[in-house]
Amino acid sequence: MSEILLAATDVHRSFGPTEALRGAGLTVEAGEIVSVIGPSGSGKSTLLHCAAGILPVDAGTVTYRGVDLAGLSDRERSRLRLHEFGFVFQFGRLLPELSCRDNVALPLRLAGTARRPARAAAEEWLGRLDVEGVAEQRPGEVSGGQAQRVALAAALVGEPRVIFADEPTGALDSLQGEAVMRLLTTTVRHTGAALVLVTHEPRVAAYADREVLVRDGRTGETRAAA
Ligand code: ADP
Ligand code: MG
Repeated sequence: MSEILLAATDVHRSFGPTEALRGAGLTVEAGEIVSVIGPSGSGKSTLLHCAAGILPVDAGTVTYRGVDLAGLSDRERSRLRLHEFGFVFQFGRLLPELSCRDNVALPLRLAGTARRPARAAAEEWLGRLDVEGVAEQRPGEVSGGQAQRVALAAALVGEPRVIFADEPTGALDSLQGEAVMRLLTTTVRHTGAALVLVTHEPRVAAYADREVLVRDGRTGETRAAA
């Protein structure tokens, strides 16, 4: 039995009158790839943000390694996100004014790593993801597929224990999306990190060990991926 890293239980979260989550749950074991699937607007992103401690829950609990995130200070939660979690979003969310290398180095710099080793680690990760050639370029100067690989490098460089990916291939064509997804899953397997992968594409979900179905703010049964 693997260690349960993350457990969201009976989570409720509203935005004004909109009940985005009304009893959603998610568990993630060490090294596991879990896909979160469901139609647009069903609450997938909200669940991911609650599980990652980005959004507070209205009711229910989220624990990371047994610690309730609601009991942490903002500072402790940010530290947790910086040191334990990595994030990949649909459009990469790279900073346009920084080079690709500095974008990848940024999570390490924020976590307190000195400039030189942070840059060295960034270059190493760009190489692993086959985009060492864009190190000096800015995100706006590279292709969508390259930018998403840079974003993956930025998510992985801090050697997080859990990676949260929200529709990471949503902005790419299917060929590029497939390549990025294969890279993400193989790299994650290699590092032993857990991955929470939000997607509405069933084909993408097939890379996971387990699927969690979200519908109308509730999570359905979890089944083994095909
Ligand atoms: P999904 O990621 O599955 O498409 P979301 O979690 O983004 O779904 O959204 C679930 C519901 O909550 C939707 O009705 C959406 O419009 C609403 N919602 C999400 N975020 C916000 C927000 N910041 N403000 C207002 N409504 C939101
Ligand atoms: Mg979403």
